[in-house]
Amino acid sequence: MTKVVTRFPPSPTGYLHIGGARTALFNWLFARAHDGEFVLRIEDTDQARSTPEMTQAIVDGMNWLGLDWDHGPYLQSDRTELYNQHIEKLIETGHAYYCDCTSEQVDAMREKARAEGKKPKYDESCRSKNLGPGEGRVVRFKAPEGLCAWKDLVKGPISMDYQEMVDDFIIRRGNGSPMYNLAVVVDDADMGVTHIIRGEDHLSNNPKQMALYNALGYPMPEFGHVPMIFGSDKKKLSKRHGAMSVMEYEKMGFLPEAMVNYLVRLGWGHGDQEVFSREELVELFNAKGLNSSPSMFDLTKLTSVNAHYIKEASVESLVPLLARYLKDLDLEADDAKLAEIVPLYQPRATTMVEMAEQCAFFLMDDEQIEFEEKAVKKNLKPAARELLAEVRALLATVDEFTEAALEEALHAFAEERELKFGKIAQPVRVAITGRSFSPGLYETLAVLGKDKSLNRMDRALALPQD
Ligand code: GLU
Repeated sequence: MTKVVTRFPPSPTGYLHIGGARTALFNWLFARAHDGEFVLRIEDTDQARSTPEMTQAIVDGMNWLGLDWDHGPYLQSDRTELYNQHIEKLIETGHAYYCDCTSEQVDAMREKARAEGKKPKYDESCRSKNLGPGEGRVVRFKAPEGLCAWKDLVKGPISMDYQEMVDDFIIRRGNGSPMYNLAVVVDDADMGVTHIIRGEDHLSNNPKQMALYNALGYPMPEFGHVPMIFGSDKKKLSKRHGAMSVMEYEKMGFLPEAMVNYLVRLGWGHGDQEVFSREELVELFNAKGLNSSPSMFDLTKLTSVNAHYIKEASVESLVPLLARYLKDLDLEADDAKLAEIVPLYQPRATTMVEMAEQCAFFLMDDEQIEFEEKAVKKNLKPAARELLAEVRALLATVDEFTEAALEEALHAFAEERELKFGKIAQPVRVAITGRSFSPGLYETLAVLGKDKSLNRMDRALALPQD
């Protein structure tokens, strides 16, 4: 059996967007699931719009998602000679020809066809002119006749009439640069690509590409066209629906594993299973599971998948990540401290940004803690302050701030005073964190440590009373 080779050929638009990332993931998984190879190719024939930074942005996105490639990144801009060789071959074999029609002439032909109730097309007038190369002349490919049929990996059997779908399309522009359909076929054939999974916006290109494969005598790969991703309003996903770049999601504190799991479910399924490890995906991924109905990008769902991954992740894997997001807040701590903090937030954080923001109080200097006005008003009224002063005195007598010791001391105090625990807990919580919510009080005190806890209670007690 021939080796499976898939590819991801983004046009460098400046970032790896959600749709592109899903396409990359499907192709990567298909290759990995079949012990095959995966090619990364940057389709930068439009030189004006392409820069090395854009290529880097795509590479960064791929790296973040953990989608490694076996070949590339190739740049189409390095491969012009190969495209020209193929164009020459097509001219020699009578499949392509030079055309000197002006764009006004071509527009007029289209208009005429339209007026006659026909499909607007180039009228093939240069086919028989036998023109040679010349300034500004394009090269056109002779549209074949007959049926273009293939068994799409996603949509099943498809057949289209070549004459309906394709006119004598341009394969080389007047300025000498190759057109997308020519370059993509030459590259895919040259790189031995066997399976092409891409968005269904490329469906209408397929007859052109298949005609080129036939004319060049290259073996036909398999094609699979996946439905587009929609926003919650059923419109094609765009910036209006939120961040498009996958690296924006990195910045927002999503885990790459969660992103991969979420993306794969946008168009692929395996029974009812929602959560897949990467290993499982590599084992289970197949074309059969690709859906032919469109999927919807839903940030709430992605967030809940992320929360799940945060909960299930190992503390060691989250420590460096938390450090990375704390840095954005100008905070740092050693790994041992972070390893104490992470488990307090794993059950509740939906993103790493949220975790960093919520745990920031642990790492700030005591003087940096700002007391939330609402929390102070509600929880540090005069009576509560009196209680807080007593608790502060009590906690000063607890030698070691372990959860067990703190629980014992505070529990006994609450019982003696016949107070509900919340009555004591809230003033203490506001005093040490500045806010009215935090993880469990004993854990929080224990991780914060005795000195900081007492110091912060003193600061709270010194707050002006209104
Ligand atoms: N450069 C094209 C795109 O980004 C590639 C399409 C294809 O997969 O053939 O849409």
